Amino acid sequence: MLSGGRGWGQRRIPGFNLTHFLQQSCNLFIIYRMIDRFKEVLKSSGNSVTAPRQAIFALLMQEGPLTAAQIASKCAPTVDRATAYRTIELFERLGIVNRIWHGFKSSLELSEIFTPHHHHATCEHCGTHLDITSPELERALAGVAKQHKFLAISHTLELTGYCGACQIRQS
Ligand SMILES: [Zn+2]
Ligand SMILES: [Zn+2]
Repeated sequence: MLSGGRGWGQRRIPGFNLTHFLQQSCNLFIIYRMIDRFKEVLKSSGNSVTAPRQAIFALLMQEGPLTAAQIASKCAPTVDRATAYRTIELFERLGIVNRIWHGFKSSLELSEIFTPHHHHATCEHCGTHLDITSPELERALAGVAKQHKFLAISHTLELTGYCGACQIRQS
């Protein structure tokens, strides 16, 4: 790793990567902003910031979308089942989470208060959720609504099918 002729300025600290460090700091900043917003939503609606609520929010921040059953099992035993389900219900009511339907099943993820607007493609085989963002799609949907003189305030659009990896595995 050490090569001669390098000044102090260029000397690398082993295991330190500036890009990675900046990326991490940036992510941390985003995380703190999300947590602040979460606390604001709870407080402004007269709900307190409890440990189970924070735990479920943190889980969804790291691994959304998850089904209610997955949330309950991942938070156990710190958060009991009944509290987990009540918290999910509260989060839905307050618009903290969105429910994404894929067939008869549904999963939850943080709403657009926290993450930018996007759609999903869910793999029927492995269950992977891909986030899809498409300005063209948004423009097309707005155009369709306008054609029908419809004032759209929200929309959901979910794709189901097979992800790239599963297509390769099955062929
Ligand atoms: Zn798959
Ligand atoms: Zn959209």
